[in-house]
Amino acid sequence: MLCVPVTATNTKEFLGDMRSASGVADLIELRLDYIEGLKKADIEALIKEKTIPLIATCRPKREGGKFAGSEEERLSLLEHAAALGADYVDIEHDVVNKFTKKSGTKLIVSYHNFSETPDYDKLREIYNGLAGADVVKIVTFAQEITDNLRIFKLLEEARTPTIALCMGEPGQISRILAPKFGSFLTFASLGSGKESAPGQLSARELLDVYNFHHINAETDIYGLIGDPVAHSMGPLLHNTCFREEGLNAVYLPFKTKDLPAFVNGFRALNVRGYSVTIPHKEAVMELMDELDPLARSIGAVNTVANKEGRLIGYNTDSTAATRVVEEGLAENGETLRGKKVTIVGAGGAARAVAFGLRQKGAEITIVNRTESRAESLARDIGCTHRKFGELASLDAEILVNCTSVGMHPDVNDTPVPAEILRPGMWVFDAVYNPPETRLLREAAGKGCRTLDGLRMFVLQAALQFEIWTGRPAPTEPMERIVRTKLAEAK
Ligand code: NAP
Repeated sequence: MLCVPVTATNTKEFLGDMRSASGVADLIELRLDYIEGLKKADIEALIKEKTIPLIATCRPKREGGKFAGSEEERLSLLEHAAALGADYVDIEHDVVNKFTKKSGTKLIVSYHNFSETPDYDKLREIYNGLAGADVVKIVTFAQEITDNLRIFKLLEEARTPTIALCMGEPGQISRILAPKFGSFLTFASLGSGKESAPGQLSARELLDVYNFHHINAETDIYGLIGDPVAHSMGPLLHNTCFREEGLNAVYLPFKTKDLPAFVNGFRALNVRGYSVTIPHKEAVMELMDELDPLARSIGAVNTVANKEGRLIGYNTDSTAATRVVEEGLAENGETLRGKKVTIVGAGGAARAVAFGLRQKGAEITIVNRTESRAESLARDIGCTHRKFGELASLDAEILVNCTSVGMHPDVNDTPVPAEILRPGMWVFDAVYNPPETRLLREAAGKGCRTLDGLRMFVLQAALQFEIWTGRPAPTEPMERIVRTKLAEAK
């Protein structure tokens, strides 16, 4: 079930938010402690307007809430809410004995820890101590993504209806996966600024991006390993794909600092596949049971597939980039063989692109701000490198930007001076946010033929989907959703 906490500070706004929440939620948590100068009359006004089940909560300051009055007053307000017909009352574990329960109202007995997720034995001890509950609630803070594993284990072993989740960004996956592990409910906000706890996603995001109501015990887990991951388009892209194909699967953001602890710890969840992004594409290689030969040659993994418990590392960036350039050239009846390609940049993207184009017979030259990196990449690929200042004299037929220059938010930057762009030249920008970079705008203005990084982004994700599921990816809706999302974000 999806529960939306309402956190308005006065009754009028509260009622408005309750109406909005009832459109997306299965139940509403009345965070009574947010109402300034809370009185019994406020509670009456709210409960009178109930259209879906309600939880009454009046969290004291000592438990991370806003209520500053006395304990007697607080408990009496909650008893009043129960008498008026609140379906559930949330009561902190240390005051259960002081609360007089009304028949017809169920008791959620809650424990919060705002600094950490205790070890498993301690969690069990806390769990066993939450006596007298109709629903047990344990909410801890995730410092590391692996903290979620203890919460999942607790849920799997729970005998009483239980709400268990982790706060904080690394804990977001516990909010999304609540139905998979049998959590009684998850909390999601009405929107940005209306969260009642750190790391809470919006109800719309949970429903629209993560297909929340389709998650159940059978749902396969996929996700993105990286840091940062908060603004990644991956969840939208892959979850759209799963929805289009009718697959019972969900793709999550795994904000990962300690990579070995994550990869080894999450083997227990039988995660079906990962995308891998900055800064883990190289380090993840040594944690694989097997490497695809292309990934081994490139020296980077952006895709992991779990084949019967064995983790296999692949690289789809390279194939996707090659395909984008080949598709473009093919429209003109051209191929990559013998084409003079200048790649600007010498990071992970440049490595994948250079490797792929080189395999197709292109003559590659690398230029990079830090020349030593260009030299080292050129050596690995078996191609030439030049100084940045020599760009104009390189006479490239295809120019590829593999630097992050021009990427959001620095959209007015460009990696190369417009003077080097000539009519007829192909210009491919690996940057995909925004899809039309300054480089591509200037290139089009000079009569160049342009290829954007968004197509590469969609293709590398489509190839991941194909590796994971063995079926073709629905690239059209994938591309449409990413272009729409990026246009909205402009
Ligand atoms: P990376 O490994 O961090 O490499 C960054 C590259 O950009 C380096 O060559 C760096 O040069 C250069 N650079 C950064 N700031 C610069 C500046 N101000 N002037 C000149 N050069 C600069 O990053 P990456 O993974 O290769 O990603 C690079 C870009 O490709 C990003 O925008 C990323 O979003 C994009 N990308 C797109 C896709 C896709 O599917 N479309 C896939 C992967 C990556 P130094 O060596 O001198 O630092």
